[in-house]
Amino acid sequence: MFIKNQVFKTNNAGASIRQSDKKGKQKEFFKYTLLRGMHDILPREEKYWRPFRDNAVKLADHFLYRQIETPVLEDANLFIRSVGKGTDIVDKEMYIFEDRDGKKVCLRPEMTASVVRAYIMHGLWSLPQPLKLWYWAPMFRHDRPQAGRYRQFTQFGCEVFGSDDPAVDSELILMAYNFFVDLGLPVQIKINSIGATEERNKYISALVEYYRGKRSYLCDDCKKRLNKNPLRLLDCKQEQCKPIKDEAPQILEWLESESKGHFMKVLEYLDELAIPYALDHTLVRGLDYYNRTVFEIYPAVDGEMNTQGALGGGGRYDPLIEQMGGHPSFGSGFSIGVERAAQYLKQACEQQICALPKAECNVYVAQLGDQARRNALKLINNIRNSGLKIDYNLTKNSLKVQLDSANGLKVPYTLILGQKEALDGTIIVREMDTGKQQTVKIDKVAEELRKRLKAR
Ligand code: AMP
Repeated sequence: MFIKNQVFKTNNAGASIRQSDKKGKQKEFFKYTLLRGMHDILPREEKYWRPFRDNAVKLADHFLYRQIETPVLEDANLFIRSVGKGTDIVDKEMYIFEDRDGKKVCLRPEMTASVVRAYIMHGLWSLPQPLKLWYWAPMFRHDRPQAGRYRQFTQFGCEVFGSDDPAVDSELILMAYNFFVDLGLPVQIKINSIGATEERNKYISALVEYYRGKRSYLCDDCKKRLNKNPLRLLDCKQEQCKPIKDEAPQILEWLESESKGHFMKVLEYLDELAIPYALDHTLVRGLDYYNRTVFEIYPAVDGEMNTQGALGGGGRYDPLIEQMGGHPSFGSGFSIGVERAAQYLKQACEQQICALPKAECNVYVAQLGDQARRNALKLINNIRNSGLKIDYNLTKNSLKVQLDSANGLKVPYTLILGQKEALDGTIIVREMDTGKQQTVKIDKVAEELRKRLKAR
């Protein structure tokens, strides 16, 4: 609630509110504020989330994916073993603690490991495969907060189990692509193949050998990566490492014909689907569980890919299912950060690259007099139940004020229920563009409105 004369100041420790008491004296109250890296999603931001949520549901329905939800709190080892030591997520970012029973638990930092756990645990492999699942869920990473980086954030993601067909990877990329393009947001895909485990192990040996000779020229982070997670050397953005990275061996040269053929098929499907992509041999995705196809999604305004922050990413993770104790199978998926997606939509709306879908209201109900007000709520409920979007304000008495509200909402029709109409079971339908009015029977009004809206 907004109170006049109230001053609201926040800092990391909390927020202080200065408010005048009855005698006009200023008093200070202490209130809590958000933890660092956390954020509220207020209605002014939510309007940029809603189109994505609606589109996620629509895409999942069209592509026949079924929703999965898993607990936020999981056994910490689930992620330590699957995402892998040496990754930023496991080494630096997990919200990890002992619960009251002394069990090492964590707030999930990502969803794939949880979905794989559920797939194995509930025998989902015995259902007809490929099994297609989607989620929309909060994740937690104790990251350094900065623009587009929060400690709690939401991901929309899809996972497909039980098929190693390259078409699965391409369909996933198509869904991730459509998630943005359906809202008018241009995006581009960066794609690579990191091969099968044996191919990648041979490649990593070659990479380490190449980098070892250049160790003294590397940034401090890369020196650590060389020992802990050599593939991540290719993620480095430091200028001093760039020339070394540019000359580094390329993983595609280590792929055998089967992996190469798989990758070529994925690209052929993308060509067929006219999805713009850029090959990037340095794209490895930091996590241990990926194999073969890996990809990321970036904003692409004016055809130029903005590589500052990925909107999402994914890839194939076939060995993970067996590694986690399941029967050998196949898995592929992606996740998209909804905060970053919403931010992109907001910027694109401000730059008039696209517009928010209109939350259209079809009709406004204005009422005059006690009897009309008594009848209005039932009438509004009936019209709402017939599938039309309706607005009203029963606290207003003046017809002019109510018609002004209707104009503000740009509704095509206003229904006017006066004392006379309330008594004889009729209502006035006013066409807002022309001001033309017609009286109709109240029990026919929903049908009449639908007919008129359809004809517009
Ligand atoms: P990742 O699993 O790290 O590849 O993340 C997939 C997507 O989630 C990224 O491309 C971001 O859009 C989003 N994401 C990851 N970390 C964060 C974060 N700390 N805050 C907000 N979004 C994030």
